[in-house]
Amino acid sequence: MPTNADCIFCKIVAGKIPCLKILQDAHGLAFLDIGPIAQGHALLIPAGHYVTLDEMPAEEAAALLKHLPALGRAVQQATGAEGFNVLQNNGSAAHQLVQHVHFHIIPRRTGDAFHFNWPAGKYTPGQGEALAERIRQGLV
Ligand code: AMP
Ligand code: ZN
Repeated sequence: MPTNADCIFCKIVAGKIPCLKILQDAHGLAFLDIGPIAQGHALLIPAGHYVTLDEMPAEEAAALLKHLPALGRAVQQATGAEGFNVLQNNGSAAHQLVQHVHFHIIPRRTGDAFHFNWPAGKYTPGQGEALAERIRQGLV
C-alpha cells in the first residue's frame, strides 16, 4: 500500500494525527471533516496514498467505495439531514486542497448555505457522439 510520510491524511490513517473516526478497515477510513460545510460532514479516504482518484487501482477503489451507502445513511440518520452530496475533487482546478484522495459526504437540507453553480450547457449535433467516442477510446 503506497504511503507518504508528509501527507496529513496518511498520518491520520496511521493514527499519528487524531481524527473523529467513524470507521476504519484495511482499505480505508471515514472521519469527520475538521471544517464542516454542515454538521456531520464526513470524509472517506483510502488507506493507501493516491493523490487523485484516477491513480487508484480499481479493486482498491471498489473496496473503499463499498462503504458509501452505509455512510450516507448513517450521516443522514445522525444529523436528520434530508439528503447528502458525495463530492470528490481531483486537481487544484477542481478545488482539491489535500493531496490524498477523499470523498466528501455532505449532509443537505432544503435552503441550506451550500450552493452549486451548475452551468448546464448543450452539445451541437455530432459533438456529443464524437466526445463519447473519444472517452470510450480512453477507457483502460
Ligand atoms: P478538498 O478541497 O476536497 O481537498 O478538501 C479537503 C478537506 O479536508 C477540507 O474539507 C478540510 O476541512 C479537510 N481537512 C483538512 N485537514 C483535516 C484534518 N486534519 N482532519 C479532518 N479534515 C481535514
Ligand atoms: Zn496520503
